[in-house]
Amino acid sequence: MTELQRPSLSLPDAGGRLLLHSCCAPCSGEVMEAITASGIDYAIFFYNPNIHPVKEYELRKQENIRFAEQHDVPFIDCDYDTDNWFTRARGMENEPERGIRCTMCFDMRFERTALYAHEHGFDTISSSLGISRWKNMAQINDCGHRAAARYPGLQYWDYNWRKGGGASRMVEISKREQFYQQEYCGCVYSLRDANRHRRETGRERIQIGLLYYGQEAGQDSKD
Ligand code: SF4
Repeated sequence: MTELQRPSLSLPDAGGRLLLHSCCAPCSGEVMEAITASGIDYAIFFYNPNIHPVKEYELRKQENIRFAEQHDVPFIDCDYDTDNWFTRARGMENEPERGIRCTMCFDMRFERTALYAHEHGFDTISSSLGISRWKNMAQINDCGHRAAARYPGLQYWDYNWRKGGGASRMVEISKREQFYQQEYCGCVYSLRDANRHRRETGRERIQIGLLYYGQEAGQDSKD
C-alpha cells in the first residue's frame, strides 16, 4: 500500500456536512477513506442514469453499496432516470469523451446532487468523478461549481483527489476490495466507442460483469 500521507481534510468555508456524489466504488474508495479518516460528516449520493446497460449499472451500484456499508457511511440511492439522460443527450450521440455530452452528463448528475443537498441540509457537495485520470478535472469542477451556485449557502468542494498518492491508492484499494472493474466510462455511446476501438485494435468486445480488480494487472477505473 502506498504510504499514507493524507493531510487532515476539512470542508472549505467551515462547511459542516458533505454530500459526496459517487460514480462507482473504484473511484470513490480512496475518496471515502480519505474523508472518513478526517472525521467529516458525509453521505454517499449515487445518481448515475448515464450508466448503460442496467446490468452494468447494478454491478457498479452494488459494489458501492457494499463499500459504504463496510464503512458505515449512509448511501442514498437516487433515480435511474435514463429517459431524462437520453433526452438531454439527444444530438450529442457522436461527441467524443470530454466533450459537450460529458459536460451535460456531469451537469445532470451534479444538479441532482445539489438539489438533494439543498433539500436535506447538506452545505457542501463534491464528487469522486475527478479522481480518474481519464477525466478532465477542470470540466468536472466547472459543472460542480455551476450546480452548487443554484442554491444559496451551498458550496462545491473542488479538492484534487488525485494528489498526494490518491490516484495510486485508488487502484490499491480497488485491488484490496476486488471491486468490479468497468472498462468504459458508462453511457451507451462510450461503450460503443470503446468496442469500436477494440475492434480496430483486434481485441474482443467488452463483456459486462467479467473483470474484477486483483484478477490481473490493475489499471484505474475507466469511469
Ligand atoms: S462518456 Fe462518460 S461522462 Fe461522457 S456522457 Fe458518457 S457516461 Fe457521461
